[in-house]
Amino acid sequence: MAAPQGREARMATLILLVEDNADNRDIYTTILRHHGYQVAEATDGETGVRLARELGPAVILMDVTMPGMDGWEATRLIKADPATAAIPVVALTAHAMAEDRRRAVEAGCDAYLSKPVEPSRVVEEVRRQVERAAAAAE
Ligand code: MN
Repeated sequence: MAAPQGREARMATLILLVEDNADNRDIYTTILRHHGYQVAEATDGETGVRLARELGPAVILMDVTMPGMDGWEATRLIKADPATAAIPVVALTAHAMAEDRRRAVEAGCDAYLSKPVEPSRVVEEVRRQVERAAAAAE
């Protein structure tokens, strides 16, 4: 049986957005919902790790700079837990590229986007990660 395509398929696809900045949350959540994704939000790393476990999202968008547990640490915990290790994590970074590339790899991120991230690039990367994860699961 053919898998549902396009917007219909994405209706059931849950994205977890971990981001402490309210404006960024609004922007990314709005565009993802516009493209048919469901979005759960966490405003800090601890909540992000907990919701990753509870909700099992298809992709996690992880802001790096957050008070308390930062996005690198949250990603390490998500990748260290067999229940969440396979969920693609896309880091949203605001730092110098070479250093962030190293940290993203160390933390176990599957991809990263440097801020300011155009909303369309977020959608594009989410779509890429969902397709990659689906292909890996076959
Ligand atoms: Mn932040």
